[in-house]
Amino acid sequence: MAPTSKVVRSPTQRSGGAGELFQLLRDGRPQTRADLAARTGQARSTIAARVEQLLASGLVTPTGESASTGGRPPTTFVFNPAARLVVAVDLGALHGHVAITDLAANVLAERSEPLPINNGPDDVLGWVARTGLDLLAQSGRSLTEVVGVGVGLPGPVNHETGRLTNPPIMPGWDDYDVPVRLSAVFRTSVLVDNDVNIMALGEYHMAWRNVDHLLFVKIATGIGAGIINDGRLSRGAQGAAGDLGHVAVAGREDVPCRCGNAGCLEAVASGQAIAQSLREQGLDVPGSDEVVAAVRAGSLLAGQTVRQAGRDIGGVLATCVSLLNPAVIVLGGVVAEAGEYLLAGIREVVYRRSLPLATQHLRIVSSQAKGRAGIVGASIMVTDHVLSPTAVEALLA
Ligand SMILES: [Zn+2]
Repeated sequence: MAPTSKVVRSPTQRSGGAGELFQLLRDGRPQTRADLAARTGQARSTIAARVEQLLASGLVTPTGESASTGGRPPTTFVFNPAARLVVAVDLGALHGHVAITDLAANVLAERSEPLPINNGPDDVLGWVARTGLDLLAQSGRSLTEVVGVGVGLPGPVNHETGRLTNPPIMPGWDDYDVPVRLSAVFRTSVLVDNDVNIMALGEYHMAWRNVDHLLFVKIATGIGAGIINDGRLSRGAQGAAGDLGHVAVAGREDVPCRCGNAGCLEAVASGQAIAQSLREQGLDVPGSDEVVAAVRAGSLLAGQTVRQAGRDIGGVLATCVSLLNPAVIVLGGVVAEAGEYLLAGIREVVYRRSLPLATQHLRIVSSQAKGRAGIVGASIMVTDHVLSPTAVEALLA
């Protein structure tokens, strides 16, 4: 099947089947048969038959009776997110996070552990399989209730095939077939995307559904962006859109990058780069977590170094603002937890280097979803696919 992941449901098309009727109920508001007939223009008898189909599937459930002006009060119906489950997986460079969610991305059970992605696919996906099955058992739910698995990976992913292409920090993963490996365990379809894309989806779903244009920037071991454009995730032709880590920062050509080039954004402003710069200045910080800890502990040196990284990131984001005109830029990833120092550096350059029209209402903020953006986004990626009109028709048939 051709996976698609839209942030918002597609507009109701005209064939008018039960799958499309279901889209009208997905917002979670209870509705009567008469409401649905009025909204679709379909006959009451047609609506009644389709509601019966949806009730039988469990995707829709009766919620009681609505107020009536006389006679028998009409029954209302509502989307039932508890009907099925999603296994949501967020894999970073150094951590693994698996969750069982319902169809509205509510987390029912979750586990997060340190897990280096460079352990390779057998080890990492073995942990995902064991943890997913374990969490299902813990929640007292069964494998047959799972409608899909969504996975975010910290590298360049071809979303159509679920395979990685030359991931720089992931030895053994190049061209590895993640969907085949995990569908053998969970016996359902598996969708894979870049970790930053699913974080953008998660942040959008949890905090920003009122805006149509959002740029999510992850600043951690790597630096990347997920682009929500017109309410949809924008992946580009090969799925590489938003890969900002290796954009050149002017004047920093002296800094070599692991990609073979020099002066890349990641080489000067990632968590590792900040940590290295602080070590050279005599501060004992092994990695991103310790950088954040040093800033929080009040180290002026750490604060200033993070702020300079913010300025370097801001220079690249100013170009993104001119190109995409987002309404909001959300900063996520471990380094974003350094808070105001990073925000200040980024804001300083973005507002100075972008035209007033583009920044007039632009907001630059820290992630609200924080550690859950990835798993919520992975769940949304799956439900946008399995609850689409055609997929629901197929499920009912
Ligand atoms: Zn590079």
